[in-house]
Amino acid sequence: MPANFKAELVACFGQPVEENPTGPMMEPAFRALGLNWRYLTVEVAPDKLRDAILGMRAFGLKGANFTIPHKVAVLEYLDEVAPDAAIIGAVNTVRRDGDRLIGENTDGKGFLRGVRVNAGVDPKGMRVVVLGAGGAARAIVTELALAGAADVLVVNRSVTRGERMVADLVSKIHAPIRFEAWQGIYAVTKDVDILVNATSIGMYPNIDAMPPVDLRPARPDMLVCDAVINPPDTRLIRAARERGLPVLDGVAMLVYQGVIGFELWTGRKAPEAVMMDGLRKALGLA
Ligand code: NDP
Repeated sequence: MPANFKAELVACFGQPVEENPTGPMMEPAFRALGLNWRYLTVEVAPDKLRDAILGMRAFGLKGANFTIPHKVAVLEYLDEVAPDAAIIGAVNTVRRDGDRLIGENTDGKGFLRGVRVNAGVDPKGMRVVVLGAGGAARAIVTELALAGAADVLVVNRSVTRGERMVADLVSKIHAPIRFEAWQGIYAVTKDVDILVNATSIGMYPNIDAMPPVDLRPARPDMLVCDAVINPPDTRLIRAARERGLPVLDGVAMLVYQGVIGFELWTGRKAPEAVMMDGLRKALGLA
């Protein structure tokens, strides 16, 4: 066989990026499949985004992740945007098709995969409450609605932000998505199948913060999900577990969004256990 010392490249572009744990998740996965691929974690300032994408094209990168602050700004430099990413209005993963760069959003899809695979729940026909109306909530609500959830209730502190997000998504998806202002303590009702915290409440450094929700009326099979990763064992997750409710933490969403990206880039089935192991080590959980 002729020698081939050329590595294929993928990258993460963001600012700051020092603590982004995607590299330690991807690199062992490439090695596990014997792929001579590298994942570069690259700091790119907002005014250098255009140059970074020109560089991506020049270097023939196989794909990239875009993180804060580029998830929305990157859209204008791409050749195509996948329908769900266009609805969400943000791209976290770019894949290459020949010379074309195509924007995808794997955050909400990663969340869905966790719900289906780890919790064994199909959201089709289910009633879901999503706390929050930021970037994570938008991706999660979009994918839940596209997956056929019967009712998605967005509960958010800022009324303007919540109403605007819901009106925009309903106009694009024509799905049963509703808004309720978050005033005082939100008490879940018996008909709720899945509760999702997509706010940053509970995130480092405020690790003891609990979203103001009353879990007492919940059905014993209501699934409680938290998008917060740092730490994954949030007070909400602990409170739900203490009540005997099934739970899904933010690590599942994070690893699966990476799994989906890996598969889009390489066309190979991702070694999920290897990726989970790499991620848990990077997050200091293993
Ligand atoms: P944003 O800043 O876009 O949105 C934050 C949301 O949290 C808003 O809805 C905001 O409400 C709400 N919020 C914050 N503090 C409070 C509070 N004290 N009381 C009530 N509501 C509050 O953040 P993201 O959507 O990007 O991220 C949210 C969380 O999800 C973060 O912890 C992030 O790390 C995590 N995440 C996890 C991912 C994963 O793969 N597991 C992927 C992406 C994000 P308001 O509009 O009223 O300000």
